[in-house]
Amino acid sequence: MAFNSKDTAAFKGVWVFCEQRDGVILGTGYQLLSEGRKLADDLGVELCGVLLGDKLNEDYAKALGGYGADRVYVCEHPLLKDYTTDAYTKVICDLVEDKKPEVFLIGATNIGRDLGPRVAARLHTGLTADCTHLDVDVEKYKQFLRETSNVDVDNTRFEENKNLKATRPAFGGHLMATIVCPDYRPQMCTVRPGVMQTAPYNEQTAAKTVLERVDVKLDASDIHVDLVEIKKSAKKLVDLVGADVVVSVGRGISSDPKRGIEIAEELANVLGGVVGASRAVVDAGLIAADHQVGQTGKTVHAKIYVALGISGAIQHLAGMQDSECIIAVNKNGSAPIFDVATYGITGDLFKVGPMLTEAIAKYKAAKA
Ligand SMILES: Cc1cc2nc3c(=O)[nH]c(=O)nc-3n(C[C@H](O)[C@H](O)[C@H](O)COP(=O)(O)OP(=O)(O)OC[C@H]3O[C@@H](n4cnc5c(N)ncnc54)[C@H](O)[C@@H]3O)c2cc1C
Repeated sequence: MAFNSKDTAAFKGVWVFCEQRDGVILGTGYQLLSEGRKLADDLGVELCGVLLGDKLNEDYAKALGGYGADRVYVCEHPLLKDYTTDAYTKVICDLVEDKKPEVFLIGATNIGRDLGPRVAARLHTGLTADCTHLDVDVEKYKQFLRETSNVDVDNTRFEENKNLKATRPAFGGHLMATIVCPDYRPQMCTVRPGVMQTAPYNEQTAAKTVLERVDVKLDASDIHVDLVEIKKSAKKLVDLVGADVVVSVGRGISSDPKRGIEIAEELANVLGGVVGASRAVVDAGLIAADHQVGQTGKTVHAKIYVALGISGAIQHLAGMQDSECIIAVNKNGSAPIFDVATYGITGDLFKVGPMLTEAIAKYKAAKA
């Protein structure tokens, strides 16, 4: 029978697109499997990883089970070695049309942002981009609203169904919107890297994962672009998402940006971390965009997050407020960053920054 995305009852299961580059699976795949596991458990269905590439390492595919996948669809073909929109879209749409998952999560990486909408359009279904929270269970969704919003949950009527409730920031982060796709399947989402947390790896579930090899139907005529060359940026991008310690600078460094960034680098070095930044600093061209933390930058879950001269705008908080320990240095004692800070220091970052570096270096030397 022809595929019909409106036949919602025919769809079952939660899928995660597990992106790989040069055969190595990106962290976003593990994060989304960990989150997808909760959704699959609430729905009582299978969680499946979808892996595309050529000559993939079976151990990597199996490892997806360690983060919750019951099954991994392995799609291998020489034309899937490097990403092209046409090839990946065709293979994924063929698989969706055959297996019919009800939920499909994709990381909002550069590739995911290209692939997700194309797949959704071809399948004639909806996609919510850049989600920060996902629920299928109504009680869990109500609890999320109680904890994070001013919605009068107990006096609001909620539809009792297991549709995916995909929450994302809207209007520049000033409000959160929950979007549902009740009439079409699969319910698709992209989620930015770092937003969801990776569950601990479980060897027992990894051992049980079923690898299902897909009979990929693809030939050169399906691909309408020629991949001439792949040029990788010579510059190594900063790994903010995976960092335990992030020292970020804000517009507070403006009076001497060079020295401000140096101070952050020195503090990050002594703490074994990396340098982040607010968008104000990135927009001013003082630091490269891959350092940006926040709604339109990276989301970090650092063990220690240091904010030097950052006011704490809602869009910045969206990318760092789940860090375990937040240390804020700001001249203005009533800056909003202090509302989320574990430790707040009212002072000039040009003085306090070097003092922190020196104190930590001394402490480390004494312990050595
Ligand atoms: C759609 C949208 C998306 C956005 N996405 C992001 C995002 O991803 N990330 C992001 O960061 N922003 C984002 N923004 C911008 C955001 O709204 C703020 O404008 C930005 O975060 C402000 O950066 P800041 O805190 O560095 O600067 P400011 O708000 O100007 O704050 C500078 C702070 O430095 C303090 N200060 C000044 N001098 C010193 C000193 N010598 N020592 C100590 N403190 C000092 C000041 O008291 C002040 O609190 C977004 C905005 C929009 C509309």
